[in-house]
Amino acid sequence: MVTDPSGLHIRNVSVRYGELLAVDNVTLTVAPGAVLALLGPSGSGKSSLLRAIAGLEPLATGAVLWDGVDLASTKVHQRNFGFVFQDAQLFSTMDVGHNIAYGLTKLPRPKRSERVREMLRLVGLEGYENRKVTELSGGQAQRVALARSLAPSPRALLLDEPLSALDRNLRDHLADELAGILRAVGTTAIHVTHDQDEASKVADTVAVMDRGRLLQRDTPDVLWRSPASREVARFLGFTAFLDATTARDLGWRGHLKDGAVLGIGPRSLELDDDGVALPITSQGFALGEVEVGVRLPDGQLATVTAPERVEAEQIHVRLTGGAVTPENTM
Ligand code: ADP
Ligand code: MG
Repeated sequence: MVTDPSGLHIRNVSVRYGELLAVDNVTLTVAPGAVLALLGPSGSGKSSLLRAIAGLEPLATGAVLWDGVDLASTKVHQRNFGFVFQDAQLFSTMDVGHNIAYGLTKLPRPKRSERVREMLRLVGLEGYENRKVTELSGGQAQRVALARSLAPSPRALLLDEPLSALDRNLRDHLADELAGILRAVGTTAIHVTHDQDEASKVADTVAVMDRGRLLQRDTPDVLWRSPASREVARFLGFTAFLDATTARDLGWRGHLKDGAVLGIGPRSLELDDDGVALPITSQGFALGEVEVGVRLPDGQLATVTAPERVEAEQIHVRLTGGAVTPENTM
């Protein structure tokens, strides 16, 4: 089989810290212009893999290639990758404009200012050239960090939890904006995050990692509809797993093939006055809505999202969603 060598190829990469295997034999490709999310819990090896791609961490095994060329002997700064980290890491003694112009020393001065203005427009901070970076909000600082990393037109952008230090609302908003900016620029990018929704918003495909291993790589749509294992499903927030009969009794109309169970997550059950009555086990607020805990007919627990607190011992629901998950995994 002939594979297209263009873009980024990560082949059988492992990273070791002494005895600890932080990245375990990961193989991934990112096509030119595509955005990949590396999604996994804290400690799953995302940053180690990103650093290995950047050349900041030695490989215990494997290779990182760009357009078919092994980067083993290409130093970090020669790889022409841009970086954005959780903490914007701006130069505090320089204004916004000089931060963005930092990687543009090869350009003649007028072209440099033009590029800085262009980048500020791109990240929605037009006219901020002379601002002190110490006067920026967290979200603005991350926009400047993004502008700085994109200014020299890197061939790939590596983002390590760039939104994780921001509060929830801002993070949601910036995730949408970042997705738009990456598409507008057309840059190849790897976006590291532990947030399932953020990964699905920003990336074309999501690679799920746990304990150094790559568990699944798919489009957000496929990932949420059919996680490759219960491990992945649980990480995505599916808490209960039903057989076909139980699922149908709850109103589900889909088809479950042999050897599969239906994962139930926070959006799988919908309120329906004509639906099945389930006992309420708990109620809690989340993002302005109420998460109602319910006990399913087979005893497993699940949640239903309701607009307000339910003043009853039961709630009527219908099962409309869910994730088709292999049965015989952990
Ligand atoms: P993530 O980014 O997914 O949170 P990391 O790649 O930072 O995960 O870490 C993966 C594992 O490697 C963790 O167990 C972490 O403690 C360990 N680790 C990370 N960096 C180092 C290091 N420089 N030295 C030793 N262990 C490390
Ligand atoms: Mg990390």
